[in-house]
Amino acid sequence: MNTQTDRYAVMGNPIEHSLSPMIHHAFAKQVQELIHYEKIKVPLDGLAEAISSFFAEGGKGLNITVPFKQEAYNLCCHLTDRAQQANAVNTLYWNEDQQLCGDNTDGTGLLRDLTQNLSQILAEQRILILGAGGAVRGILGPFLFNSQGSAEILILNRTYSKAALLAEQFQHLGNIYALPIDQAPKKAFDLIINATSSGLSGEAPLLLPEWIAPHTLCYDMVYGNQLTPFLQAAAQQGVQRKYDGLGMLVEQAAEAFCLWRNKQPKTAPVIRQMRQHNSQSPQLS
Ligand code: NDP
Repeated sequence: MNTQTDRYAVMGNPIEHSLSPMIHHAFAKQVQELIHYEKIKVPLDGLAEAISSFFAEGGKGLNITVPFKQEAYNLCCHLTDRAQQANAVNTLYWNEDQQLCGDNTDGTGLLRDLTQNLSQILAEQRILILGAGGAVRGILGPFLFNSQGSAEILILNRTYSKAALLAEQFQHLGNIYALPIDQAPKKAFDLIINATSSGLSGEAPLLLPEWIAPHTLCYDMVYGNQLTPFLQAAAQQGVQRKYDGLGMLVEQAAEAFCLWRNKQPKTAPVIRQMRQHNSQSPQLS
């Protein structure tokens, strides 16, 4: 057992409700490592300084969350392929030459939750993604790779131009296209992912009854202590297979933990622990 306590943190603004410290401490306990993981609220104009100080003072690794993922990307000297594809980073560390290295584990986190925890295949599936923000940019590469380009992916977004740009940038990897919302096809999808942040303001994005088949899985990247507005809309339409993004959160954290500690923690017990914590929590986290 390693007896040195290494320091990690998540930086964001706001950051109060982040579950990351609890998740990483649960991983560390499970694999018998000593770490200290904290939340750091960073001023909107203070990211570069906060990151440099953290590592200069001996910090070992950082997670980066809203609204800093793209800014952190621009500060890195080295980027993994998946970070480059996402154009954003959520995991940072210093290499032996004290250069800032960035990775993005969000896409892998969602992929693992869907395929391993929820047994959803992606190959040859019809997939509808609602939203075209930073998170979607991070998941498209892993999705298209996992399905070896055989999935059909439609992106719909409130601002059509952003969806069209993403589809254009990823179309060399597979069958991906975008449409204006009012031209959305009235056909069923196997998997519908809500990657908009509308749930954070209590709203649900459009969910047409024609998109739902008995087997359709509806996944909301947002999570909380009760059914999100999108999952409530899915429930009203009789969707049985509906899940929030807590599993994704734990899976992306596990991938970051493994990068830092070279040990892959088990996620199922931590997802259960976080769900229990959330059910006792009075507010969305
Ligand atoms: P961005 O801010 O980059 O993008 C937000 C997206 O939501 C845009 O497509 C935006 O559309 C759309 N949107 C916002 N409000 C509405 C609304 N009222 N109606 C319809 N569409 C709306 O956010 P991210 O891509 O980084 O994150 C998206 C969501 O995923 C967030 O809620 C975030 O918390 C969650 N997330 C969860 C993770 C997890 O581990 N579970 C990891 C990463 C993200 P427009 O382009 O028109 O503005």
